[in-house]
Amino acid sequence: MLKIISPDSLRSDDYTLAGFGTRHTLSDTTSNTRGIGAARRWLRSRFESFARNDPDFKVYEDRFVLSSVPLIPKPAVLVNVHAVLRGKEGVKGSYIVVSGHYDSMCTNIMNDTSDATGADDGSGVSLVLEAARAFTSTHFKPDANIIFICLAGEEECLKTITYSE
Ligand SMILES: [Zn+2]
Repeated sequence: MLKIISPDSLRSDDYTLAGFGTRHTLSDTTSNTRGIGAARRWLRSRFESFARNDPDFKVYEDRFVLSSVPLIPKPAVLVNVHAVLRGKEGVKGSYIVVSGHYDSMCTNIMNDTSDATGADDGSGVSLVLEAARAFTSTHFKPDANIIFICLAGEEECLKTITYSE
């Protein structure tokens, strides 16, 4: 599987994420080229492209509203984009989580409009995507289910994810 991992693919994904300008939690969610909304739709589309190669790979969104959290002064919809690769036949209740956070911030966390390309955060997410691409393109069935997840809200110190099938 290591032969599948592509530096070009990792770099391309990270450049794409940085190209959204900012992925601040309160940034634009309607544009298709800038802001966290564009970024999460693109992440979902990447996972969906992998799902076309592997029927055991399912794409999900964990969407929730936050309204009174330190560092998030107005109601915001946060979305964790994730996919689950079902493991070998008979594997139940056993999960491995591969995660990265796709949000970003500039030097002032309350600034939701300035550029915050976040290539460092993006590199972790690129690794999540690349691992998912490698598993689905080789049809490898692991000994546990694997959750590939791109998390929101990390810059605001949110640490909780919810997951259910
Ligand atoms: Zn982050």
